[in-house]
Amino acid sequence: VSSGRQSYKIALIPGDGIGIEVIQEGKEVLQKLATELDTFDLDFKGFEWSSAYYKKHGKYLPDDALAQVKKFDAILFGAVGAPDVPDHISLWGLRLALCQPLQQYANVRPTRILRGTTSPLRNCKPGDLDWVIVRENSEGEYAGHGGTSHTGQAWSVATEVSIFTRHGVERIMRFAFETARSRPRKKLTVVTKSNAQRNGMVFWDQVASEVALDFPDVEVDKMLVDAMTTRMVLKPESIDTVVATNLHADILSDLAAALAGSIGIAPTSNLDPTRQNPSMFEPIHGSAFDITGKGLANPVATFWTAAEMLRWLGQAEAAQLLMEAVENVTESGVKTADLGGSSKTKEVTDAVCKEIHKLA
Ligand code: ATP
Ligand code: MG
Repeated sequence: VSSGRQSYKIALIPGDGIGIEVIQEGKEVLQKLATELDTFDLDFKGFEWSSAYYKKHGKYLPDDALAQVKKFDAILFGAVGAPDVPDHISLWGLRLALCQPLQQYANVRPTRILRGTTSPLRNCKPGDLDWVIVRENSEGEYAGHGGTSHTGQAWSVATEVSIFTRHGVERIMRFAFETARSRPRKKLTVVTKSNAQRNGMVFWDQVASEVALDFPDVEVDKMLVDAMTTRMVLKPESIDTVVATNLHADILSDLAAALAGSIGIAPTSNLDPTRQNPSMFEPIHGSAFDITGKGLANPVATFWTAAEMLRWLGQAEAAQLLMEAVENVTESGVKTADLGGSSKTKEVTDAVCKEIHKLA
């Protein structure tokens, strides 16, 4: 018998707060999809790495964590962050401790207005806002390079050095140009702050211009990050694919998520484009302890994240079907409070599972 059937090993890292809730929903929907389509298999394993784990063990990850997750085809991550752990400890302890060694240098954040949801922008029609933000995910402002001295003195100093390497900038630029090329409009906006930051940001622009020579079919424009924020609000239809540094894209993509309706719908992929390591997929929202345990968490960001994961794994049809199911549900009015609805988390999941059954 021929067995062309693919099986994928998925590591689930729910983390903290609503991360735990939405990953449960994501798993349920993925299982439903695999069962209904019956064209591929998913094999899940959960990891309890979280702020609770940290409080018990004094660290977020066991020493062999990387070796463990490298055995998987992909990682589905919830959120990390707890009220009683400083954010820089939890972020570096878990999320960045995985992303950086796994060489997930491309962070990809698609944004568009899902059917049945609305943008807070008054005149924005659904087709006006359809973006992909590509974020450099390994260096730049979040390189972790810096230090403090003379602590406690009136003349104390702290430095946070941004690092831009030829290797790092060129690979994200190539990835962004490829992404732009794969989309109908073939348009890339390169974002910097090269008027004020004349070393790293001018370098970023130079590398962009060099790489652009290899992509003559991609239309390129360059924007300063401050001007970019106003353009996102005032002329969303003029934007397609965006590439920006770790810090700039972090901020722009939160703005993008809000402009598309809610932080509760937006997905992120942390990709190792070389595919030597598993990539990691997560909703962009955090652990949101204010709504944890109340059944209010919107699971749509995690469903969209799951679709992005399936696409990366080569299951584009399943991904398409999942998004179709999700948008049928949002269009039918089954939505959580952040989208102006009154449905609970579970009701959204159940409705999506029903749609999957109908569509499959
Ligand atoms: P973190 O510190 O991990 O970033 P956070 O508490 O700052 O978490 P965010 O996830 O950044 O929370 O989101 C800010 C607010 O948006 C939350 O407090 C919550 O009210 C709302 N929110 C976030 N995600 C969702 C979601 N999936 N569904 C509904 N509301 C959400
Ligand atoms: Mg936050």
